[in-house]
Amino acid sequence: MRSQVNGAAGSRHMSVHLLEASPAAGTRTGGRCRLCGGGLEHTFVDLGMSPLCESFLAPGQLDTMEPYFPLHALVCGTCFLVQLKEYVSPEQIFGEYAYFSSYSTSWVAHARAYCAMIKQRLDLGPDSLVVELASNDGYLLQHFLPLGVPVLGIEPAANVARVAIDKGIATQVDFFGVALADALVTAGRRADLIIGNNVLAQVPDLNDFVAGMVRLLKPEGVITLEFPHLERLMAENQFDTIYHEHFSYFSLITIEHLADRHGLKLIDVDELPTHGGSLRVYLARADSRRSASARVADLLARERRAGLCDLATYGSFAEQVKSTKRKLLAFLIAAKDEGRTICGYGAPGKGNTLLNYCGIGTDFLAFTVDRNPYKHGRVTPGMHIPIHPVDAIDAYRPDYVLILPWNLRDEIVQQMRHVADWGCRFVVPIPEVAVIDPKEPQS
Ligand SMILES: [Zn+2]
Repeated sequence: MRSQVNGAAGSRHMSVHLLEASPAAGTRTGGRCRLCGGGLEHTFVDLGMSPLCESFLAPGQLDTMEPYFPLHALVCGTCFLVQLKEYVSPEQIFGEYAYFSSYSTSWVAHARAYCAMIKQRLDLGPDSLVVELASNDGYLLQHFLPLGVPVLGIEPAANVARVAIDKGIATQVDFFGVALADALVTAGRRADLIIGNNVLAQVPDLNDFVAGMVRLLKPEGVITLEFPHLERLMAENQFDTIYHEHFSYFSLITIEHLADRHGLKLIDVDELPTHGGSLRVYLARADSRRSASARVADLLARERRAGLCDLATYGSFAEQVKSTKRKLLAFLIAAKDEGRTICGYGAPGKGNTLLNYCGIGTDFLAFTVDRNPYKHGRVTPGMHIPIHPVDAIDAYRPDYVLILPWNLRDEIVQQMRHVADWGCRFVVPIPEVAVIDPKEPQS
């Protein structure tokens, strides 16, 4: 789709320049940064070959070939965007998507609290328009309906959008960018608030997406974006959040580059516990009357102190990942050698990166369970672990349950506390392997 951006043409000069500028950084690879167009020469982490992490296989697909793609993250030496090349087209990924946000209780509660907060903060009312990009099954926009605020969802996966439409949430099935923004503006629709939760990472043409938001935004409108914070990913070994559906991984430093490039300014930032540690950034037009909170400068300074403007910091991440893999495998091998039974909990995208990179199949996990009925009866991509309804754990009575969506560990331990009845314990793989006894109070 943007082969001119990822192609090797013109990269030779830049690679020589960057190699001299930063001899400590990793492997040279070629390509251009999807944000700034700078040379893309430095490996962040190479997770080998992996299938698409949301491509769960039905029983009839088990005897067919399964496509694998490189899972190699790079870091830009100019704007420090950590990114994958576009190995897979968005149409391949998002045409029929298995992720339904509403299956996570805590995520829906997070969305409800956000809607109440932002309505008051921006004084939204019946004459406002809230647009959510990648609105999924309406898990968020549904909370604006009782508040009397008009909404429009944009969602490319038709099967997921259908669920929102059936709930009465206006939803357009499309990919967002300048073309769609212009069509909406021509139709008289401009937004007081544009929301992008966990979507920025999934956009291959980042500049077209952000330019579209700017066109759709009213002069004093606000954009809020939530995304996993790269600083947390690096500090806590969250390598399993790297998968083909996530093209980009952001620090606030990189968001500032993005804002500058598109005539936007950062006006505020919240640090959130969601997805292992996320940022919610608030953006306005550079010429808006809105001023910036001190939190923006404070967090930018903290990221600089953490070395996020230094390629050597990024170069050390790959060793952390290998060590995390060895610790998890050592635990699982020891448990199996002792005759323990283990199953998984959850079949999230991140779980599939973890299972494939570590080579964990049914030799370790008898099966996994998920609350999403779409996945029941299917197997995980690559490692082909069967996915059952949650009550399969009660029938199997395993010694250990490996929690794959570790960001939801507190919620899952709370819901599944009864497994203590037969002496079962939970295992979380990230930031490093740890055993949780459900009988002990959780922090
Ligand atoms: Zn860049």
